Amino acid sequence: MQYSIPDYYKEFACLADACEGTCCAGWQIVADKKSLKRYKAEKGAYKKALRAGIDFRSETFRQDADKRCAFLNEKNLCEMYLHLGADSLCKTCRMYPRHVEEFENVREITLSVSCPEVARILLSRKEPVKFLSVDRDGFEEYGDFDPFLYSQLVEAREVIRSILQDREKDISRRALLVLGLAHDMQVRIEKSELFACEEVWNRYRSKKAEAFVDEKLKILEGCTGKRYYCSRKLYDRLYQLELLREDWGVHLRRMEKILYAGGRDAYCKLQKGFANWLDRSDIDWKVMSEQLLVYFIDTYFCGGVYDGCIYDKVNLSVASVFLIYEMLTAIWSEKGECLTFSDVVKTVYRFSREIEHSDMNIGLMEKWPSLLGFLR
Ligand code: SF4
Repeated sequence: MQYSIPDYYKEFACLADACEGTCCAGWQIVADKKSLKRYKAEKGAYKKALRAGIDFRSETFRQDADKRCAFLNEKNLCEMYLHLGADSLCKTCRMYPRHVEEFENVREITLSVSCPEVARILLSRKEPVKFLSVDRDGFEEYGDFDPFLYSQLVEAREVIRSILQDREKDISRRALLVLGLAHDMQVRIEKSELFACEEVWNRYRSKKAEAFVDEKLKILEGCTGKRYYCSRKLYDRLYQLELLREDWGVHLRRMEKILYAGGRDAYCKLQKGFANWLDRSDIDWKVMSEQLLVYFIDTYFCGGVYDGCIYDKVNLSVASVFLIYEMLTAIWSEKGECLTFSDVVKTVYRFSREIEHSDMNIGLMEKWPSLLGFLR
């Protein structure tokens, strides 16, 4: 069995009570059956408090009025952990913020940027992220798995990473190149022409593809009506997603007002002002957006082996980073033309909490219109 992790994986250590956005509040924690059985069998002094904190019917931990887990004490520490030790934690709590994608004989483990500490580690990293693999004993065969498609997706993801991490190119150009690559590869998959994918990868590494993408970029960079229209359309779609935290809805409406209430010209002025400010600031958005794009691609792209929809996965990745940028623009404006590293970390983990922790939201976003489509 092969296991893969990003090379910053071991830098992570939970901040526990020092965390600014604990994962033990705001979400309903669902416990696995094995842990529930153990909780029911608990005989010690903590038995009563343990049972009181669990809703065995819905298999979840109870929450207080502020949506804090019943086991989270006033110091933001877990009472269950303190009384019964680390082994008592349910699978969700033991695993988070680790995210595992399962394939035949392969486990790809990433760290979710919905955790503030993971977001901080990823966004402060300057070097391109690498991925490490180790082989362990054991072999697992899936009955219904397409190993050839999976191997093509793994190779395609390598090509996508190499384009995204090519710092000679502007980040917008890199993003549009990988959208184009995924689009053309999707056509090959639908025609069952997987053997022709290599030709697509080579095309998107060529100067011709760069020239095509540059044409598209001119439409966006002039901050014409196209960018305004595209930004508004994507932003409006955020309201159609499942709302996981009430305060996210309030945040969305506030940001929307800042971005769009003044109309197209005000939006373009805001975008230009923010871009100029970013160029002079110590927020290295070019590197940060690269790390985020690689993060999203790494987490979702190979899942295309199960539904065949790889273009959707790249679309989700690019749209996510685009919207995070739009939100940063609004926050910068709201703070009187100022943005700190902590603001970027917070924006990223809040966005990820709403999008990545709902299968429904991921599914809906994958089907959103693509940025490439807007530029036709
Ligand atoms: S969000 Fe991350 S750092 Fe914070 S308590 Fe949870 S795992 Fe720890």
